Amino acid sequence: MLGTMHAWHAIERGHEVVHLEREREARGASVRNFGLVWVGGRSAGAELDTALRARELWEEIGGKVPGVGFRAGGSLTVVRTAAEQAVADEVLARPDAGQRGFRWLTPAEARAHNPALRGEFIGALLCERDAAVESRVALPALRAHLAATGRYRFLPGREVRDVGPGLVRDDHGVSYDSDCVVVTTGAWLSGLVRELAPRLPVRRVRLQMAETDPLDEPLTTAVADGDSFRYYPAYAGGALDALRDGQPQPPVPAGHRMQLLMVQRLDGGLTIGDTHEYDEAFAFDVTEDPYDHLRERAAELLGRPLPRIRRRWAGVYAQCADPALVVHREQVLDGVWLVTGPGGRGMTCSPAIGETTANEIGW
Ligand SMILES: Cc1cc2nc3c(=O)[nH]c(=O)nc-3n(C[C@H](O)[C@H](O)[C@H](O)COP(=O)(O)OP(=O)(O)OC[C@H]3O[C@@H](n4cnc5c(N)ncnc54)[C@H](O)[C@@H]3O)c2cc1C
Repeated sequence: MLGTMHAWHAIERGHEVVHLEREREARGASVRNFGLVWVGGRSAGAELDTALRARELWEEIGGKVPGVGFRAGGSLTVVRTAAEQAVADEVLARPDAGQRGFRWLTPAEARAHNPALRGEFIGALLCERDAAVESRVALPALRAHLAATGRYRFLPGREVRDVGPGLVRDDHGVSYDSDCVVVTTGAWLSGLVRELAPRLPVRRVRLQMAETDPLDEPLTTAVADGDSFRYYPAYAGGALDALRDGQPQPPVPAGHRMQLLMVQRLDGGLTIGDTHEYDEAFAFDVTEDPYDHLRERAAELLGRPLPRIRRRWAGVYAQCADPALVVHREQVLDGVWLVTGPGGRGMTCSPAIGETTANEIGW
């Protein structure tokens, strides 16, 4: 998505783009994610500003390319304990609560907003700015739109092996002239990327995910559980510290660093996750315990069993070591830029990251 969004802005500004992709079709983080355009959890400052701009751009892009499946449904973080409510109260009292579209909903209000939430809870934090797109189909839809300009060529099955000023060479031995090269290889940081940037301040994170059969009713918002407060920087503060001390997570979610996020796909299926694995070498298989926990927690919020899980997978994203940086953007050679490390917010922020690169380079 990062590469495609750079292409989007280059095309918008009248340039020609050749987009090289190693796989036959994208198989990285951008097709493995929730498709959440997640604004509410962003830290104040550059990260929130980027997410808000990206949210605007996603809406605009979604209007032009209906195939990305943009929908502005918002999210509900469902709160089940007083300690979680204190975290919600703290962020609701901050000056940027309005910018994030935060509002407290009682259980009855939350159910009016999202009738599928029939479980037991004491309220929910609504984030009106959150949205969703369809990760599994968004990229081909965007590419078709770009190709219609006659100035965009997507070349799959071509691995970039060498990059130099004004030149790119692929593993078929084909060279491409260019005025500007943007390298966006996601979490593939060895080989070409290591040669270009040997000491990249970026780490990798692995997540486990699943998708269920269709739920027989709409889930009108994305849904998170109170554990998500532990993972998004917007919620940092005294109340979160107290939550961590007073309400430790049970062993499975603690061990796999879990939260529940749940978003409905256009066909009714529910994408659920996630776990966070930080230490490499990463597992090459998926473990069942986290799925048991996700199923149980989701069923508690829905007040009914989750539909059968139809797919499980894992994904890896690259994340800047410095949490204050939205992305690692580095000019590695004359006319060659490396952009990676947007972390767990890369799907959200890609349109704005591409725009910033375009502005900085002066496309
Ligand atoms: C499970 C999971 C859930 C997530 N959920 C969300 C979410 O809901 N919202 C959100 O905002 N973010 C989310 N993220 C983060 C987000 O998905 C990523 O930050 C984002 O997709 C990164 O995009 P990318 O284009 O940099 O990387 P990728 O999507 O991994 O793309 C990199 C591409 O480069 C190609 N490539 C690599 N090397 C070469 C080469 N040498 N030559 C040619 N091609 C090459 C790869 O084949 C790949 O297609 C999630 C991530 C994961 C893993």
